[in-house]
Amino acid sequence: MRTAIYPGSFDPLTNGHLSIIHRALGMFDRVIVAVAVNPKKVPLFTEEERKELIRQSCPDPRVEVDAFQGLLVEYAKTRGVNVLLRGLRAVSDFEYEFQLANMNRKLAPGIETVFMMTGEDYFYVSSQLVREVASFGGDVQALVPPHVFQSLKAKYAKKP
Ligand code: ADP
Repeated sequence: MRTAIYPGSFDPLTNGHLSIIHRALGMFDRVIVAVAVNPKKVPLFTEEERKELIRQSCPDPRVEVDAFQGLLVEYAKTRGVNVLLRGLRAVSDFEYEFQLANMNRKLAPGIETVFMMTGEDYFYVSSQLVREVASFGGDVQALVPPHVFQSLKAKYAKKP
């Protein structure tokens, strides 16, 4: 069984992430979408909210949603998975992803990072941009799954 871990903040999940997950299901039997929990950062959506939004947007039984803290390679080892999946948008992603992949290979030589490109409709979409636009009342409906859109509206409706 070929399994890949797709790690990220997913704060929140966007159509760019979804495009990667759907493509990965064509290559792997199972994809574990792993929400990175960083106690030093205050996310817009809690860990549980982020996981629930991913579950609602990915009903495919081959997608598992989980969360982890600390080193990704240690998490991958505990899950018995040796493929990490990352998405590439533009050249700007490359340098950071290149560093990360090399660092992870140094830490855990048996674990490979696989890169996939998103659909051309979503290459400019990031969670951060989606949060910013939504916070000012901009329409992000075309950029995120329907559950995420509703949750963003609810979040920012509550904020002053
Ligand atoms: P992180 O906080 O670890 O960068 P993100 O949740 O922003 O996590 O993204 C997780 C992964 O998905 C990263 O590899 C990121 O480059 C990739 N990604 C994010 N948005 C897109 C997109 N629109 N198209 C392709 N890949 C994307």
